[in-house]
Amino acid sequence: MPTKSNELHMRTLSELARGLAAGDFSSRELTEALLARIESHGSTLNAFITLTAETALAQADDADKQRAAGDAGPLNGLPIVHKDLFCTKGILTTCGSRILENFVSPYDATVVERISSAGAVLLGKTNMDEFAMGSSTETSYFGPAKNPWDTKLSPGGSSGGSAASVAARIVPAATGTDTGGSIRQPAALTGITGIKPTYGRVSRYGMVAFASSLDQAGVFTRSAEDAAMLLGVMAGLDPHDSTSVDEPVPDYVGGLAKPVKGLKIGVVRQHFDEGLDEQCGEAVKDALKALEGEGAELIEIDLPNIDLSVPVYYVVAPAECSSNLSRFDGVRYGHRADEPEDLLDLYCRTRGEGFGEEVKRRIMTGTYVLSAGYYDAYYLKAQKVRQLISHDFMRAFETVDVIAGPTAPTAAFAIGEKTDDPVTMYLNDIYTIGANLAGLPGISIPCGRPDGLPAGLQLLGPHFSEMAILACAHQYQQITHWHQACPEDFR
Ligand code: GLN
Repeated sequence: MPTKSNELHMRTLSELARGLAAGDFSSRELTEALLARIESHGSTLNAFITLTAETALAQADDADKQRAAGDAGPLNGLPIVHKDLFCTKGILTTCGSRILENFVSPYDATVVERISSAGAVLLGKTNMDEFAMGSSTETSYFGPAKNPWDTKLSPGGSSGGSAASVAARIVPAATGTDTGGSIRQPAALTGITGIKPTYGRVSRYGMVAFASSLDQAGVFTRSAEDAAMLLGVMAGLDPHDSTSVDEPVPDYVGGLAKPVKGLKIGVVRQHFDEGLDEQCGEAVKDALKALEGEGAELIEIDLPNIDLSVPVYYVVAPAECSSNLSRFDGVRYGHRADEPEDLLDLYCRTRGEGFGEEVKRRIMTGTYVLSAGYYDAYYLKAQKVRQLISHDFMRAFETVDVIAGPTAPTAAFAIGEKTDDPVTMYLNDIYTIGANLAGLPGISIPCGRPDGLPAGLQLLGPHFSEMAILACAHQYQQITHWHQACPEDFR
């Protein structure tokens, strides 16, 4: 039976906010409708690790009471889900790993706390690659998440459960994290909007650390307008995170109306080299033409060292993860091996049993590149090249306002297709990793559907230029309809 486009699950976050404010429905009605949606469609996608139906209904009732009392926060009564990497007080936080299979966090991450204080209702925690290491959600201990456009395909990763649930109209918004592309790539592969803010824009407190100099929290939504609304709540200085920055948070929603006329858009020569699927490339070129048609100026630019971003990332990220993950030792958190003979046996068996193959590969690579004999040759060298990549971006932003190009080299790929070949999997993030190495903000928005599967357009900007990339994305969404498309089985 065809669903009506005005049914609650089909509406965007901003539309739902307006409906709640107008009293068209209550948060309880909305929450019940979406919980039913999770029930009917959630398991097909394996998008969730934990559901929080009971507390969600209580939060919805509280939200309705607050609204009636004239005390509605900016996200009052709106449903959200969090990637299972954000600590949630009293709720399981597994990070997609066996080693945290039973870990219940004693506190909320700052992102979780800010979103909940703004009145949002938490429906559950989403599936992800183990410790956010992966590009397909296949390294999850809880099995792969599926792409709603075709459930034989991967939704991308590592925030695949968040992306799949937003694309499938199960929830209007979800949080994610992006260390090398884990928000932008799954957003592209599922046809939704995903933003990774500037490093330091959003607090990392309470996010389980993967690679601390690269990790950043962001959101998945179905429009740039919705992303702007959520980012405004999440962003800003946090005394718990010394890398969060004391930079004023603009009115992101208020700034969306800025036209693209006169905007200088950099098009990176290297982005259209071999490796990019022809049809995805065409979709991106069409999007660039559409922006040009609105008065933006396209300027070809060079990022001469960008080809080194994947190798640099696969030295820096494993190095940081080998250090960050040393805390999972069977003593302090989660899984513990049975009947250890001594302390060393406890460490070895706990970690041997608790971590999956990809996480072990990263820990071993990281330990190797940091070891005394190889530090200069690998880790130090990678840090130097990281600086060169950052400088290339800074130089480019002297002549352009934003950089636009593909988010991922191909559309969604089959589950199992790349699992035997880590390097092919790693190359998925070839266009996204540069922004993490340089700490820049980036957004992916849907820009076409070659062969029926979504393609993504990535917009990058200088540090703290979230407003500029959101406004450009919003203006593109005013003249195109790709962001409104819903996978057929999930209407
Ligand atoms: N796919 C990349 C990796 O496997 C990036 C993951 C991420 O951004 N968390 O490390």
